[in-house]
Amino acid sequence: MPLSNPPEYGQSMLPAGTYAGQVVLITGGGTGLGKAMALEFARLGAAIAIISRKPEHLESGMAAIRELGGEVAAVPCDIRDPDQIARAFDQIEEAIGPVTVLVNNAAANFPVAAETMSANAWRTVTQIVLDGTFFCATEFTRRRLVAGEGGAILNIGATYSWTGGPGTAHSAAAKAGVTNLTQSLAVEWAPDDIRVNCLAPGLFLNEDHPDNLVKGVKGGAGRESSRPASRVPAGRTGAMHELGWAATYLCSPFAGYITGHTLVVDGANWLRRSLVMPEFETVRDTIAPRL
Ligand code: NAP
Repeated sequence: MPLSNPPEYGQSMLPAGTYAGQVVLITGGGTGLGKAMALEFARLGAAIAIISRKPEHLESGMAAIRELGGEVAAVPCDIRDPDQIARAFDQIEEAIGPVTVLVNNAAANFPVAAETMSANAWRTVTQIVLDGTFFCATEFTRRRLVAGEGGAILNIGATYSWTGGPGTAHSAAAKAGVTNLTQSLAVEWAPDDIRVNCLAPGLFLNEDHPDNLVKGVKGGAGRESSRPASRVPAGRTGAMHELGWAATYLCSPFAGYITGHTLVVDGANWLRRSLVMPEFETVRDTIAPRL
C-alpha cells in the first residue's frame, strides 16, 4: 500500500489570511513547481510576483493566480543578471508593493555526460541555479535592511546536493551550493529577522514540462513516465500542492524558529539504497546522444 494521499487540493493547513499584506516573489513561478507554490501563497492572501524570461510563462503564471482571484505582477527577468533583478524588484514594488518573501525556484537542468558538457552548458546551469539564487537573495535582503523589516527566503534545492548527480553534474554541484548557501545566509541574516530555508523536492510530475525528469535519457519519456509511482518507495509521486504547503509553512510565522534548514519532501526516495543495487549502467550509456 502506498503512502497515504494528502488532503485534497484547495485546502490550506495555515489560517486563512496568513499572507495577507505580503508580497511573495517566486522566480520561475509561471511553470511547474514554482506555479504550484505561487498558488498556495495566493490562496493564503499573498500578492504574488513572478519573474522569468519567457512571456508565455509569465502569462501562464498570471492567469493561474488571477483564476484564484489573487493579485499578481509578472516581470521579465533573467536572474543571471543582477541589474535585471534590481530593475524587476523596482517594478514589482511599484506594482504591488515591496517583496517580503522570496522563493528562489528558477532553475535549468538537462542530462549530459560530464566529459561531453560544454563550458557554456556548465556556466548556464550553475549561473541560473547558484548565481541567480545568490543575486536574488542579496537584492531582497538589501531592500529589507533599508526598510528595517524582516522577511523569509526559501531556496529550492534537490537531494543530489548530498549524493551527487551522475549525468547532471552541473545542476547537482549548483544545488549543493544552494543548500550550503542556505546555511551561511541563515546565520548572517538571523539578526535581521530574515530566515533562510531550503526545500528539496523529490519526484513531482511537472505538468508544464512533463519530460523534465527524463529529457535526454535513452528510452526516457515512454519508459519512465508510464509507471513513475512504482519507482519511489512511497508508491506515489508528490502532489504539487503538498510542496506548496511545505513552502507556505516554512516562510510563515509558524516556522519562526526554523532557519538554515533543508526540508526534503520526497517520500524517502533519496534514502533508498540496497546492498544489491540494480545492474550498473554507465552514465554514458544511459544518456542520448552517446559519445
Ligand atoms: P520548470 O517548470 O522547468 O521551471 C523552471 C522555471 O525557471 C521556469 O519557469 C523558467 O522560466 C525559470 N527560469 C529558468 N531560467 C531562468 C532564468 N535565467 N531567469 C529567470 N527564470 C528562469 O521546472 P520545475 O520542475 O518546476 O522545477 C522547479 C524547481 O524545483 C527547480 O529549482 C528544480 O531544480 C526543482 N526540482 C524539481 C523537481 C521535480 O520533480 N520537478 C525535483 C527536484 C527539484 P523561463 O523559461 O520563462 O525563464
